Amino acid sequence: MMDVSKKIEELKNLSISKLREKIVSIKKELPREEQNIITFSKNFTLSLSNFCQNQCGYCFYNQTIPKEDKEDNVVLIKEETINNFIQTAIKYGCTEALLMSGEFPDNFKEVQKELEKRSYNDFFHFVRNLSEKLLGVNLLPHTNIGMLTYRQLKSLKECNASMGLMIESTCKSLSKIGGVHENSPGKTPENRINHIVNAGKLKIPFTTGLLLGIGENFSDRVNDLLLIKEINLKYNHIQEVIIQNFTNKMGIKYNPDKLISIEETLKTAGIAKLIFGNDIAIQVPPNLIQNYEKEALEMGIDDFGGISPFTLDYINPNHIWPKIDHLEKICESNGYKLRERLPIYKKYINKQGFCPENIKKMIDNINKNVRNKTDS
Ligand code: SF4
Repeated sequence: MMDVSKKIEELKNLSISKLREKIVSIKKELPREEQNIITFSKNFTLSLSNFCQNQCGYCFYNQTIPKEDKEDNVVLIKEETINNFIQTAIKYGCTEALLMSGEFPDNFKEVQKELEKRSYNDFFHFVRNLSEKLLGVNLLPHTNIGMLTYRQLKSLKECNASMGLMIESTCKSLSKIGGVHENSPGKTPENRINHIVNAGKLKIPFTTGLLLGIGENFSDRVNDLLLIKEINLKYNHIQEVIIQNFTNKMGIKYNPDKLISIEETLKTAGIAKLIFGNDIAIQVPPNLIQNYEKEALEMGIDDFGGISPFTLDYINPNHIWPKIDHLEKICESNGYKLRERLPIYKKYINKQGFCPENIKKMIDNINKNVRNKTDS
């Protein structure tokens, strides 16, 4: 087997045109009718609490970062907001509810007090309850709230169609003094890898990905892609890998001399495609690569991720989601077809042990109501 550093060197030296050529042959391995399909999920986000035990240098979401509107630093999302969002999501025909929050928000007294007032034992209890509520109205939860124990993952699997946790980067220097993860105990690479492995053991259809431009280098990125591949070879549960570029925000600590370029981001997406082939979908968030969609398609991406018709990208609130028909036109003018999918990829719905029966029933209900709610 080729040694990893040689492999990295080889990938690093690939020209964009060579990369494109290789990507074309990978796509050709798919059945003819799937070769030009690009997917997305019509979702909405419930940002549950901005309170977080970590202080990642690049984070705008964290409660310590002042927001334009003070109310935007949520202690615990109000019941009224949840109900309003659910009604709006139903009106728009969303199928995925993304549940996100800071990590361990109930480490904070303010959050504990709110939970107590609303009769929840802890934050996990709140999330479990909310997931059930969403399923009750045919909305499929996808939870990404940071680190969870094996037992918590197991419990959430019963009421989530899929789950996620970005590996971001396992580069050790990010946790050292001056690194973006210096004050983020939850970002210890070993713990995050363990979380993804546990999701694999539990057969949870899973999303992970890299955050680029936070102090890691090209070799670190390829290393992490190879690591994800290795985990997936064992558990076969990773349905998509997000390649996300850091973008600058007001008020955050991290201030690199040079921002990661979209070109470099997309080259990484292309390399991810070479590494994962057609086994795992490569996703880039379209709001972070605006005007480079054609180049993204040329780098073999498969998916534009969750796009919300009415909620923000709370991590990058200045980057508004594109309209779905705008993306549709871009895809069409480049010879692709945009197709809606569910938060659980089709191949996992009937894969033994990956999708609980109650969620399968829900998917049947959704598919009865909407055409083409499958990834391919
Ligand atoms: S863990 Fe997430 S929410 Fe918390 S500081 Fe880091 S990026 Fe922000």
